Amino acid sequence: MHTIQKIYFASGNTHKRDEMQRLILDGIHVVLPKDEGIAFDPVEDGESFIENALIKARCLYDIVHAPVLADDSGLVVDALSGRPGIHTARYGCSEGRNLTSQEQYTLLLKEMEGMEDRKARFVSACVLMLSADRIYIVQETVEGAIAQKAMGLHGFGYDPIFLVEDTGLTASQLSPEEKDRCSHRGRAMRRIDALLEKEIDR
Ligand code: IMP
Repeated sequence: MHTIQKIYFASGNTHKRDEMQRLILDGIHVVLPKDEGIAFDPVEDGESFIENALIKARCLYDIVHAPVLADDSGLVVDALSGRPGIHTARYGCSEGRNLTSQEQYTLLLKEMEGMEDRKARFVSACVLMLSADRIYIVQETVEGAIAQKAMGLHGFGYDPIFLVEDTGLTASQLSPEEKDRCSHRGRAMRRIDALLEKEIDR
């Protein structure tokens, strides 16, 4: 019988790692490359969330040769023709100018000032790479809208300005467990967990 006790997460984002650790099957430890001193900074030049998740997964797998999980995610805003989309992490940034998350969501609120259509969704493309030739891809979403102002204290990134459909609350106003139940990443990881469960039984 297979056992997977550890999975490398192709990211440098500790917030996403913490979510992944909560979401992954019990007994599997989620490890960032930097936790083990592994330099990891792939060029994410794909044209979709899935392409970028695959780039991250393959790049880390080529280093560790062990099971890898990758997530590429972002915010898709209808009134902005899908922006910032795959560029969400770099929204408002430029050569020599990095913004904090708070600066980024404040900029987005400003860009959307006066706009009535505030429909948006978070997308998460997750890749589970078990070996060089065994790769599973899942993409999920959570629908919602861009709030008029930032609200809430939990979460990370754009959570304070993302109103989760049917809740009337931003993702930052939900507890971590409530966010996991409905989030793009929570939905994608429940699919990945089902695959991992089968793998452990194989
Ligand atoms: P990635 O790490 O290249 O996939 O960048 C995704 C970016 O999207 C992150 O830097 C966050 O700003 C944003 N993002 C992704 N998922 C979430 C979420 O669950 N809440 C808030 N922001 C998110």
